[in-house]
Amino acid sequence: MKQNPKITRIEIYKTSIDFVEPFRIAIGEIKRGNGLAVCIHTDSGLIGTGEGAPYSFITGETQETCFEVAQVLARILIGKNPLAIEDRIHDMDTFIVHNSTAKCAFDNALYDILAKQAGLPLYALLGGEKEVLITDFTIGIGSPEKMTSRAKEYVQEGASSIKVKLGTTYHADIERIEAIREAIGWNIALRIDANQGWDTFTAIKTLQALEKFDIDFCEEPVAHWNNAAMKEVHEKSPIAIMADESIFDHHDAMRLASMRACTYFNIKLAKAGGINKGLMINAVGESAGIACMVGGMFETRVGISAGSHLISARKNIRFADLDSTHHYSYDPVIGGVIFEGCKVTLPDDPGIGAEFDPAFLNDLQKKIIQ
Ligand code: MG
Repeated sequence: MKQNPKITRIEIYKTSIDFVEPFRIAIGEIKRGNGLAVCIHTDSGLIGTGEGAPYSFITGETQETCFEVAQVLARILIGKNPLAIEDRIHDMDTFIVHNSTAKCAFDNALYDILAKQAGLPLYALLGGEKEVLITDFTIGIGSPEKMTSRAKEYVQEGASSIKVKLGTTYHADIERIEAIREAIGWNIALRIDANQGWDTFTAIKTLQALEKFDIDFCEEPVAHWNNAAMKEVHEKSPIAIMADESIFDHHDAMRLASMRACTYFNIKLAKAGGINKGLMINAVGESAGIACMVGGMFETRVGISAGSHLISARKNIRFADLDSTHHYSYDPVIGGVIFEGCKVTLPDDPGIGAEFDPAFLNDLQKKIIQ
């Protein structure tokens, strides 16, 4: 195996897969998964695969911007050593700020190559042990009746915890949780996510009213830029607060930890820019006594597998929100994590262990940089 392989060719694809049904959260709705796939080839024969799932109203990126930025990043990385991940991430970050979702696809493909070179599954390379992860199942915003029947379906499918999207009005949100808790009983854990939908007053009032429904935590109660408001909500809420849209990378983690603005961090590879910064966010969290979750945007099983390796690699990552693949009408992935009810099992293959079906990639718009 070459000690200093070189990147020889990078394939960039626009992936598009219809959702089973539109998915609504407080700040918007999406109907299909329009993402980015990156395959990095090396002169040692190893190929790394990565995915980026851009949520425009969260990261400011679209499939189009990811596709354009990815071509520029690919030109910068061609001819360089894929194993020197720190240097490759520095190359990307010093060329263009933000664009975390496009960078995530490259970060994941580089870690895939590194772990394949080592002959280890990524979680093992990162010092972790294989474990069966337990994911929650997420319910988008809808009528209380629709959300309740979806909750019951998820319990039948084996859910042990359900995440409910809220962030509308006080009365409507209380009604949703009341109906869902009554329908599923008290043995299923409930998490909620307001996706910035509340103002400070509504957040505090709603969370106080929801205390009796035994809620594990609430994600992003108020506007992502208003860290002071989140801190106020955190101080007055009887329910734990998890930062999501307000934390992209380790710098945000440091600020929120210093402010004591939340209980937990939600790490998403598409916000962080990949595994490398996901590890740094977790390190900040662990140092500050803040446990983490790994969640997703709308990744296929390629991106979800990458996130699952990260969870298995670090004990401080205690929660898993990996059910984005349930949105899809079609699974284009070979290998990768296996879902059985709420249980998520990682593959044993070296690397991330998941790649896109070549037949799926064949039909997609692509650019090849070499
Ligand atoms: Mg969230």
